[in-house]
Amino acid sequence: MARKVRTSSEFRDALLKHLTYTMGKDPEHAQFFDWRMALSHAIRDRMVDHWVDSTRKTYEQDGKRVYYLSMEFLIGRLLEDGIVNLEMVEEVEDALDHFGMDMRTILNDEPDAALGNGGLGRLAACFLDSLSTIGCPAMGYGIRYENGLFKQSFVDGRQVESPETWLQEPHPWEFERPEVRFTLGFGGDVIYENGKTLWRPAELIQAEAFDTPIIGWKGKWANTLRLWAGRAVDPFDLGLFNAGDFAAAAEHEALARTISRVLYPEDSNEAGKELRLKQEFFFSAASIRDILRRFDSQHDDIRLLPKKVAIQLNDTHPAIAGPELLRILHDERGLSFEDALEIVHGCMNYTNHTLLPEALERWDERLFGRLLPRHLQIIDRIDDAHFKAHPQRTLSARSDGQVKMGELSFIVANRVNGVSALHTDLMKQTVFKELHALHPDRIVNETNGVTPRRWLHNCNPGLSRLITDTIGDGWVDDLEQLEKLEPSIRDKVWIERFEGVKAANKQALVSYVAQTHGVKLNPAAMFDIQIKRMHEYKRQHLNILEAIAHWQEIKDNPNGDWTPRVKIFAGKAAQGYHFAKDIIRLINDVAKLVNADHATRDYLQVIFLPNYNVTLAERLIPAADLSEQISTAGKEASGTGNMKFALNGALTVGTLDGANVEIRERVGDDNFFLFGMLADEVMQRRMMHDHAQQAIAADPRLARALNALRDGTFSPEDPGRYTHIADNLTWSDYFLVCSDFTDYWRAQREVDAAYRNPDKWAEMAALNVARSGWFSSDRTIRGYMCDIWGAESLLA
Ligand SMILES: *Cc1c(COP(=O)(O)O)cnc(C)c1O
Repeated sequence: MARKVRTSSEFRDALLKHLTYTMGKDPEHAQFFDWRMALSHAIRDRMVDHWVDSTRKTYEQDGKRVYYLSMEFLIGRLLEDGIVNLEMVEEVEDALDHFGMDMRTILNDEPDAALGNGGLGRLAACFLDSLSTIGCPAMGYGIRYENGLFKQSFVDGRQVESPETWLQEPHPWEFERPEVRFTLGFGGDVIYENGKTLWRPAELIQAEAFDTPIIGWKGKWANTLRLWAGRAVDPFDLGLFNAGDFAAAAEHEALARTISRVLYPEDSNEAGKELRLKQEFFFSAASIRDILRRFDSQHDDIRLLPKKVAIQLNDTHPAIAGPELLRILHDERGLSFEDALEIVHGCMNYTNHTLLPEALERWDERLFGRLLPRHLQIIDRIDDAHFKAHPQRTLSARSDGQVKMGELSFIVANRVNGVSALHTDLMKQTVFKELHALHPDRIVNETNGVTPRRWLHNCNPGLSRLITDTIGDGWVDDLEQLEKLEPSIRDKVWIERFEGVKAANKQALVSYVAQTHGVKLNPAAMFDIQIKRMHEYKRQHLNILEAIAHWQEIKDNPNGDWTPRVKIFAGKAAQGYHFAKDIIRLINDVAKLVNADHATRDYLQVIFLPNYNVTLAERLIPAADLSEQISTAGKEASGTGNMKFALNGALTVGTLDGANVEIRERVGDDNFFLFGMLADEVMQRRMMHDHAQQAIAADPRLARALNALRDGTFSPEDPGRYTHIADNLTWSDYFLVCSDFTDYWRAQREVDAAYRNPDKWAEMAALNVARSGWFSSDRTIRGYMCDIWGAESLLA
């Protein structure tokens, strides 16, 4: 107790000092923003002590370092993470209390760092947290986008995008490193000189580093996230300026900055791709130089590189790092091509995230060759070397006028991993079938996970407290300890507390939605939530069609014994993905009609919350009763949203897709609502040319729901608005919404029945919590360390 009082006043002084000297304010006039900045700086100071220690230890031990290259890091807020990981919650509350401030209010002032689209970027962020918690010496490399993923709002139910401006306010977590700069090039020529091949790029640009410390659980270790920003080599042309051409004088600078200006939305296969390829090379090449510089500072023999360096490519976006490292070793450092390739192969590993053919990266070889002429030659030589070793091969990194980043990554990598058991199997059978036959040991599986600090301990304090009261706090960095909860689940008092936590979380969400959107949700209803990027394969339209059919059935019999539901949606659609945007509008139109319907609104409410991001996910997931994970089987590589929900005591209605398969295996068939075709049945069914018409003919409910789309029920002022959705589902339906509808309906009625037995439901939900410990990203990272990187923890 004595210690707490002392440190608390110490921290109070630190806070006041930053308010005064960093923000230049006195407490009388400080705004929330000033307090948040002062608090962030005071917390950052504490992080830095650990950070410096970890860095020193890493250099001393000279162990293997892990480099995680990712185009996206969907981090969210950082202040609460820092406070909790440093075990400073009480100190901070006390200090703020002294100045009459409330911690929650200050935490809620922080904008999300939205440097990612969805699952892939969020995985990278969870991995950073786990790498630091485990004490694995590692660094994340990415791009410091000035504008992250766009902000979403609705006008007449339609998605409207506006720029995300997280850097408009100063970002307290980063350290600018003007001394860490690399000059990179594009275009130009390849020249041959004294028997050497050299690339002479035409356009030069600099990459400047910005570092953010990533602190692990209990502050035992801190790694670095290093993001690159584009800078002009020669920022300002004084000659042009003096000649009076001010615009041209600044043009060079502006061009250099565009490279780190915006995050590309996924699923946008539009023009403007050149910038995307430039971004990929920009951050990959800067990272490779940084890795080599650090290696060279400690070692003389480049052949040791694979012993000291493991590079993980998060999807193919950084795949050009392989040829770039090869180019430096061969062209610039004079190693033979074969030796250089062997070193590169020893360092590089590749995580595949998708089997969707349209999402596998391919570049037109003319565009590629124009920007990266030497790399195109190197890719040909990689293909040649591979062919020499395996003359029977049929796939290559460059063919049909395209550079294929998936094949390139596979051929270069030491290990290739999928992100769930099913996905890894399908990868072996489909996209990489031939390459897998040549390299049967290369593919491994590392099922995704989520960090239990953010996705249970911090976002669900009520449940966290109950768990800690029951089994101690060892679960926070050893999540499989949750299984020790199982005996308590049969205890009536315990399960009542568990139900109380869920009820309180739902009530908190009800208040939030009432305040922010003016909609009153029924807290006694089942909270049925689907939140994720909008995509046809994720099938938000299956969900809303079922809701329409359900609403129609309730209307037929308004005095029936219905189980009340609140259907909650959130998710962004890529700007150019019109079908997905129309589904958003449809859900909003359905919500408008259904929520106003006096005959049904006690039983069914629908709401689409705008601007889905990490912070909104942290609000919604603890309040969920039902988690919708309904993708077409074979299409979702893993999913991580599914794990967050199960861990927070929601039951899943889902297909056997991605990690749903493993979630169901672990939580038990009885505690998971399964429906739908299996991945191989999907492939079979799709061969049937009239699969959708047959499904519609066999299910009058489905036919009636589709008719409501056609007859303008949801858009009386514009009756044709949703005809094309109905037509798409009737005549094409690639994602088999119709074929899975009937079984989905059945599963949802089972869900209704189960929810009417609250004791049974709570028991099932609690079993989901107790049995989801395996889905910690700590477990995933330990898997990578052991199977892929050969890296070790530096914590005793
Ligand atoms: C977890 C998460 C995702 C991934 O969700 P899936 O359901 O696995 O697609 C996407 N966005 C945010 C903000 C997340 O937190």
